[in-house]
Amino acid sequence: MPRLCQTDGLTDVQTEIVKAVRQFVEDKIIPVASELEHKDEYPTEIVEGLKELGVFGLMIPEEYGGLGESLLTYALCVEEIARGWMSVSGVINTHFIVAYMLMHHGTEEQKQKYLPKMALGEVRGAFSMSEPSLGSDVAAISTKAVKNDDGYAITGQKMWLTNGGSSTLVAVLVKTDEGAESVYKNMTTFLVEKEPGFGETAQGVTVPGKIDKMGYKGIDTTEMIFEGHQISADQILGGEPGKGFYQMMDGVEVGRVNVAARACGIANRAFELGISYAQQRETFGKPIAQHQAISFRLAEMATKVETAHTMMVKAARKKDDGQRNDVEAGMAKMLASEYCNEVVEASFRIHGGYGYSKEYEIERLYREAAFMLIGEGTSDIQKMIIGRAVLKEYQLR
Ligand SMILES: Cc1cc2nc3c(=O)[nH]c(=O)nc-3n(C[C@H](O)[C@H](O)[C@H](O)COP(=O)(O)OP(=O)(O)OC[C@H]3O[C@@H](n4cnc5c(N)ncnc54)[C@H](O)[C@@H]3O)c2cc1C
Repeated sequence: MPRLCQTDGLTDVQTEIVKAVRQFVEDKIIPVASELEHKDEYPTEIVEGLKELGVFGLMIPEEYGGLGESLLTYALCVEEIARGWMSVSGVINTHFIVAYMLMHHGTEEQKQKYLPKMALGEVRGAFSMSEPSLGSDVAAISTKAVKNDDGYAITGQKMWLTNGGSSTLVAVLVKTDEGAESVYKNMTTFLVEKEPGFGETAQGVTVPGKIDKMGYKGIDTTEMIFEGHQISADQILGGEPGKGFYQMMDGVEVGRVNVAARACGIANRAFELGISYAQQRETFGKPIAQHQAISFRLAEMATKVETAHTMMVKAARKKDDGQRNDVEAGMAKMLASEYCNEVVEASFRIHGGYGYSKEYEIERLYREAAFMLIGEGTSDIQKMIIGRAVLKEYQLR
């Protein structure tokens, strides 16, 4: 049988790109990942390497200086990167979502202004919906942009910004309340420019510092406080207020494929570590892989890794075909993240006591896997989306 997570029907270019990223992961990420993660150190050299590989512009069209690749190519690269270290995939993900939103919803001027620099990784993106009192219930946001003679003034508090410190362009969802009846039409995405770093990073924009997290270390996750940040109406994504909710949901759909891909990468790595350890560790006179309980566990792990990969690829291909993929992305995200946690736990058990030691990679994967259940919508939220869709499709007439 071939190795897990192979993908049929790739073009030569896709195969080459994924191969190059895999090699980069083997050479530059895996050897340093656990050390940097334990020190909570930003992977500066790795990020520079990814810029050289063109990963920051993978999906940005060639006319704007990117590689013009598909969501599938992007997702397969993310899977490889997360196999090495999930935090690194986080560096490119919010950047990618902002670039995607610009490509699909930005004005031509906004595309010209940002995409070429984003393709080079010179402008780095973050996206911000969540607030201290909400994550799943996006419609409840309270950060507000109030119109004035010079544009808008934004006030409020945002929470959980991945790349909140290192980014220089943040797509921020705010309430604009310009009279629309539907709560969804009262939301607008602003493109907020800021300096990288912490403290007051732009007029009226403060990034207090890094949130200390259980895993997903190295990468900065922050709050962002707006105190009358003055911004021009030209910085509204797409030029018109009231479209923010739909723009963000479009971004989140590709973001969900990305989290599914990350979960596949972590699960694949956990499987590799487990199957390797199981052939080296001996108990009762033979390698533990030869105990049926362990080989059955490996069989279940392999099946889960393969199933999650297949679902993730299907969701990416549907979006690449120009179709909505909310249900497929929701299914892929839910299944891949739940399976990821199960596979990581199974691998952890195979490692016995050593799995609990920081010397073994599985310890890091164990902490990383948990975040897959939360980011880009919890499993409960995916179930809401899937449940609504299946009931509509199978409605009794
Ligand atoms: C490390 C990290 C990075 C993040 N990065 C970003 C980012 O870059 N940008 C950004 O905008 N956000 C980001 N987030 C926020 C993330 O998207 C939210 O944490 C997530 O959507 C869940 O929201 P919440 O934490 O507010 O949980 P809540 O919405 O409060 O949910 C709490 C629990 O209730 C359940 N629940 C909620 N509503 C329902 C319902 N209707 N039915 C059944 N169960 C329900 C949830 O599934 C969950 O189990 C990040 C979060 C973390 C931890």
